[in-house]
Amino acid sequence: TERDGMDFIRTLVADDLRAGRYQSIVTRFPPEPNGYLHIGHAKSIVLNHGIARETGGRFNLRFDDTNPETEDVSYAESIVDTVRWLGADFGGTVYHAADYFEQMYRFAEYLIGRGLAYVDSSTDEEVREARGTVTEPGRPTAFRDRSVEENLDLFRRMRAGEFPDGAHVLRAKIDLASSNMLLRDPLLYRIRHAHHYRTGDKWCIYPLYDYAHPIEDAIEGITHSLCTLEFENNRAVYDWTVDHWQDFVRAEGGEPSRPHQYEFARLALDYTVMSKRKLLQLVNEGLVSGWDDPRLPTIAGMRRRGVTAEALRAFCEMIGVAKSNTRIDIGKLDFAIRDDLNHRAPRVLCVLNPLKVTITNYPAGESETFDAPLWPHDVPNEGSRPLPFSGTVYIDRDDFAENPPKGFYRLSPGGEVRLRYAYVIRCDEVVKDDAGEIVELRCSYDPATRSGSSPEGRQVKGTIQWVSAEHGLPCEVRLYDRLFTAPDPEAGEGDWKQNLNPDSLVVIHRAMVEPSVRDDAPGSRYQFERVGYFCSDTTDSRPDALVFNRTVTLRDTWTK
Ligand code: ATP
Ligand code: MG
Ligand code: MG
Repeated sequence: TERDGMDFIRTLVADDLRAGRYQSIVTRFPPEPNGYLHIGHAKSIVLNHGIARETGGRFNLRFDDTNPETEDVSYAESIVDTVRWLGADFGGTVYHAADYFEQMYRFAEYLIGRGLAYVDSSTDEEVREARGTVTEPGRPTAFRDRSVEENLDLFRRMRAGEFPDGAHVLRAKIDLASSNMLLRDPLLYRIRHAHHYRTGDKWCIYPLYDYAHPIEDAIEGITHSLCTLEFENNRAVYDWTVDHWQDFVRAEGGEPSRPHQYEFARLALDYTVMSKRKLLQLVNEGLVSGWDDPRLPTIAGMRRRGVTAEALRAFCEMIGVAKSNTRIDIGKLDFAIRDDLNHRAPRVLCVLNPLKVTITNYPAGESETFDAPLWPHDVPNEGSRPLPFSGTVYIDRDDFAENPPKGFYRLSPGGEVRLRYAYVIRCDEVVKDDAGEIVELRCSYDPATRSGSSPEGRQVKGTIQWVSAEHGLPCEVRLYDRLFTAPDPEAGEGDWKQNLNPDSLVVIHRAMVEPSVRDDAPGSRYQFERVGYFCSDTTDSRPDALVFNRTVTLRDTWTK
């Protein structure tokens, strides 16, 4: 139940504090270092960090690094960097499940000693088969009733490396008839002779998630262990493990803490995929340029596209947390990004598709400089930049129509338009090449219409962006769009990759941008007036060869 505009998790946290069940709240974000973080992880980070911050508690960053084969230190480093960038303060200490392997091992011996765990030497297939089905209870394998001594001996020899992968597993002895399949003697340990990025070759047995995770939480004093809905059935194993862990800690004279697991809906966004396995496939098959491809829902990709941490956090707060899985309209993300960039991105002029305009009555060889505001009136920021103007400018091809449709307020033969911050020009002549392609417009300007002065009777409906040919900077512009054409790319029978959007990246090799941006730091953000929000690419942009990424359009233009 929700109260005071709080989501159901914050409500139960508040209840726990009020009832004195905890003195203070401790949450955690527990990624496995086997890939890069995506926006779904951001939802979890913002939720866990937010609850700790709001209640004056603590937020831990912990690597759930119990799988030697898939994990890597490069992933771990990127995750730490990303969590910091998102602004989730984890207090400087990074926790590692791998640092608890010894405690987990001792607890396993404790369980064996009390007849609560046994070494099963069946094959994977035999274990699976004996577990039964939803309608049929499980059966014991031939090893369920091994003596404590035999179990202890085998388990110690498993640790010592005497057996190959798969020879034995350690299982909890819980309930083979449980209606919850996960309680039918879950696996606690398996043998893996593999190098671990943190513990090296010290271990050749590794704990499984359902066993390791509650112990990690209990060791760190986590109070509320938040995970996604598909772990609902795992909660019973979580509680079983924590209950016995508490006995174990007490037996050793310690004061155990009691974490509880709660589940919330995972984020699924339209027009993208989120699972690490699928993202990895896109990267490995070269369908995107890497983990930080601006089209991916990875945080590295969104960051490179120009999205700020504030916008991501605002999005996560806007969508909230709920108890049922729904897909989120990607328009909400775009809204959060625009809302953030509106007051953050100065306005500059860039022409994506340049068409040369010669202003025939402008004094030859002359130029002048306007002092143009960087911000519109409704954004409370100050500042301006020099904007040079000369007798040859570029406008966008789309802003000229030889045969203008009704309601076209831009330039057409004989028509007038205002050049933003400059003058009103009239199109006197259209110059074409032999193939009939328009290559130049010859126009005249009215000096009395200089921006700021407002002579009578000069009303023009349209204002367009332009760049002085002599002063402008050629640049590359990358127009990013949705990665998939289907709202749910994974729905339906076919291969999800068939739904990739062939136009998700359109590269414009020679756009023209005004010179004021020349020396800005890589990653600087702008609104190119009338075009969209952009940022310079942190990897590829150089002062003499600028590259800009489109972060988001000015409004929703998606029509497919
Ligand atoms: P994926 O399925 O995308 O590979 P994962 O759950 O395997 O993700 P982890 O590194 O284990 O990846 O996730 C760390 C934390 O992030 C977990 O607590 C998990 O619940 C949470 N998380 C992962 N994906 C999402 C999502 N789409 N929405 C909300 N939380 C998520
Ligand atoms: Mg996981
Ligand atoms: Mg996964």
